[in-house]
Amino acid sequence: MHIIRQYQVPLQKYMAMMDLQESNEKLFYKLLIDNVEEMLPIVYTPTVGEACQKYGSIFGRPQGLYISLKEKGCIHEVLRNWPEKNIEVIVVTDGERILGLGDLGCQGMGIPVGKLALYTALGGVRPSACLPVTIDVGTNNENLLNDEYYIGLRQRRATGQEYAELLHEFMSAVKQTYGEKVLIQFEDFANHNAFDLLAKYSTTHLVFNDDIQGTASVVLAGLVAALKVVGGTLADHTFLFLGAGEAGTGIAELIALEISKQTNMPVEETRKKVWLVDSKGLIVSSRRESLQHFKKPWAHEHEPVKTLLDAVNDIKPTVLIGTSGVGKTFTKEVIEAMASFNEKPIILSLSNPTSQSECTAEEAYTWSQGRAIFASGSPFAPFEYEGKTFMPGQANNAYIFPGLGLGLIMSGAIRVHDDMLLAASEALAAQVTQENFDQGLIYPPFKNIRKISAEIAAKVAAKAYELGLATRVPPPRDLVKHAESCMYSPAYRSYR
Ligand code: NAP
Ligand code: MN
Repeated sequence: MHIIRQYQVPLQKYMAMMDLQESNEKLFYKLLIDNVEEMLPIVYTPTVGEACQKYGSIFGRPQGLYISLKEKGCIHEVLRNWPEKNIEVIVVTDGERILGLGDLGCQGMGIPVGKLALYTALGGVRPSACLPVTIDVGTNNENLLNDEYYIGLRQRRATGQEYAELLHEFMSAVKQTYGEKVLIQFEDFANHNAFDLLAKYSTTHLVFNDDIQGTASVVLAGLVAALKVVGGTLADHTFLFLGAGEAGTGIAELIALEISKQTNMPVEETRKKVWLVDSKGLIVSSRRESLQHFKKPWAHEHEPVKTLLDAVNDIKPTVLIGTSGVGKTFTKEVIEAMASFNEKPIILSLSNPTSQSECTAEEAYTWSQGRAIFASGSPFAPFEYEGKTFMPGQANNAYIFPGLGLGLIMSGAIRVHDDMLLAASEALAAQVTQENFDQGLIYPPFKNIRKISAEIAAKVAAKAYELGLATRVPPPRDLVKHAESCMYSPAYRSYR
């Protein structure tokens, strides 16, 4: 740590950590686990984003498996070239929507590598059981196509049938090579492919999309926790989203599902509690014909509304969630409106990186006169308002996916079910203490993350057994203890 801390530039710290992962894996994980709050922003967002942008020019050694259009027809053989045989988790991207940075093609590899490092450090999955994969179908990023250090295919993206066939061969080869219990996490695909891939493979493979489902689970956990401060049940609240893509509609659906579980109302009814605004305004029934399929369930009866402010004043939400990727969109007028009809407005500005956040912590607290319950996607420093210090919580997906993955692995689950996402949310929400609430937090501190992951894993595994989706039988008696005992720890072996 002394050496790492001497680097002034985050990207240099990142490169030093990647070298360490290569040369002394145990030490890499020891540092990451013992200094998680300090190292997470280096090994993962935001630094990993810069690393992906510059991936070609800082390239040392290949860290994962690249599968390009040229490997079509022999993906099974390519997988068998990977030195480790017992793979439990694959994180795969095609690089088309890396964080909020757009199409980075093959250089998106930093994301599967980083996410899997978190699977190990935060969730205790063995490093050798993790396989990072980047599917290279080209890139539409002109800068990269003209960059002499670009590491991928120099062609525009394959689409349609050519794309679908490559992905299908990959999915089949994975199952053939590693069996039915390998978890495949889709990461940072553009939304037009993300929803389709998840729908297509969720009935035949153990698949999970963190951008859609992981986000939904972590945000629902924050909302469930916030209710302890604000009062009422989820069904008593009205939700308005700015942004109706992977994150927005994913969260919306999980909220509707949870309300449906709690009230026994059909999900078609509970969805009416949730409204979304996209780049064309409020999603309403008169727009249904022209809407992408994942937006159609949210087209409720209402006259057309163009702006967010008008939608806020019409719908009068108690919860406002930003998932638009566009910064500064929760304006003073919007927050003041929220604070005018809510005693404690819940305001989540989730867009990343920090520059894209719908509003800052300072703005949310100031414009609501210190009444907002606020959390964000990117971290904000504590903020003092009229003598009280508020700690803005971070709705970081890293709270959920490592524990969820461990729960799936330890139960030998063969499918991901929405009820497991709900179980993970409840487990996370239960970890928030009164002391956290008093500071304005709706998430627990990260330093306890391995304990939190074990709790989540236990609840997810219990759900897998309950649903008959677990294959590792009989179930262990104490699932939390079992989760902890399954976790990889970076300790040197004694050779005495
Ligand atoms: P996405 O699928 O591309 O969706 C973006 C949505 O925002 C689309 O519905 C788009 O509208 C809408 N939009 C764009 N500009 C807008 C504007 N000016 N006004 C209103 N709506 C606008 O992206 P995503 O995967 O959902 O990610 C969105 C953001 O959420 C990103 O910044 C990401 O970093 C963040 N995120 C945060 C977390 C977290 O905090 N844990 C997790 C995941 C994602 P159209 O459909 O009309 O184009
Ligand atoms: Mn992602």
